[in-house]
Amino acid sequence: MDDDTVIYAGVEAIRSTALAVQCLVDSREIWIPRSQIGDDSEVQDSGDCGELIVTEWFARKEGLPPGVCEHGHTNWHFLADETWCYGPFRYES
Ligand SMILES: [Zn+2]
Repeated sequence: MDDDTVIYAGVEAIRSTALAVQCLVDSREIWIPRSQIGDDSEVQDSGDCGELIVTEWFARKEGLPPGVCEHGHTNWHFLADETWCYGPFRYES
């Protein structure tokens, strides 16, 4: 998965189907298509609890809060040595 992603910490998967997983994210119950969940996500199936990795595209579409990198930015930005910071972008509820 090459898309930009956002990490949501402390997420619980409530139930799941072959196509989607319903998660409790930032106090909201949201159905997330499996295609939008990262391979490295700790949350993949019903009963999982931990870090959920979703595409930034989906997070924006659902109005989820943006993740923040270790420098406090919500988007790609230059570092002092003029390289890019690509995150990871995390959100802790
Ligand atoms: Zn950064």
